[in-house]
Amino acid sequence: MQLILMGAPGAGKGTQAAFLVKKFGIPQIATGDMFRVAVKSGTQLGKQAKACMDAGKLVPDEVTIGIVRERLGKDDCKDGFILDGFPRTVEQADALNKILADLGKTLTAVLNINVPAEDLIGRSVGRRVCRNCGATYHVEFNAPKVEGVCDECGGELYQRADDTVETMTNRLNVYVESTRPLIEYYKKAGVYYEVDGRQHIEKVTEDLINVLTSVKG
Ligand code: ADP
Ligand code: AMP
Repeated sequence: MQLILMGAPGAGKGTQAAFLVKKFGIPQIATGDMFRVAVKSGTQLGKQAKACMDAGKLVPDEVTIGIVRERLGKDDCKDGFILDGFPRTVEQADALNKILADLGKTLTAVLNINVPAEDLIGRSVGRRVCRNCGATYHVEFNAPKVEGVCDECGGELYQRADDTVETMTNRLNVYVESTRPLIEYYKKAGVYYEVDGRQHIEKVTEDLINVLTSVKG
């Protein structure tokens, strides 16, 4: 199963990917996570990515496409994968078509988690992420049992540097300008599905799984 989880920043892609990974046993490929690892390691890629991420801008297409091409060629992707946060531009979507064709695969479904703009800043600013395992929480909507501590592994929770009102405003503008056009792109391709992301986390998961069950037949 080759899936794309789409949605504005803060829509719940990472939260839902964690459930789908467990249910279907295929890896989550999150370009934002890959860039954060590179930033932490201080690599050349990390330095380039950090400047874009801090400003709420996209990392250049050629860089992003390169890391995705390499990642999707790895052995653990042979039975499928869940793309989270890629593609974000029409150029990336075109490149993904080429990568999939080279791998002899097709897209199973593009799942858009639809959340209105007015909810997204609050979701992002309240987001907390585990430094150790990457699990995602929200101070209000999905709070950990003990403040600042991951339920899954006991790791420390932190707030992402780009989860500020100012950066998030830029990220939402970038989403509208560059990423939202992909809805029409994938509708035309006949692989587009949408779920209501304002519902409780468990209900969004249920809706996503129902869509996938119908798609797979
Ligand atoms: P994305 O990966 O799309 O940027 P996340 O999965 O990191 O989004 O979710 C953003 C924030 O919103 C997190 O703090 C998460 O706990 C919270 N969240 C995710 N899904 C929901 C939901 N259905 N209702 C309320 N809050 C949610
Ligand atoms: P995310 O973790 O998906 O919210 O992404 C965090 C940041 O990483 C974004 O604001 C971008 O700066 C960068 N990024 C992640 N995915 C992409 C992508 N597909 N194309 C360009 N930049 C990306």
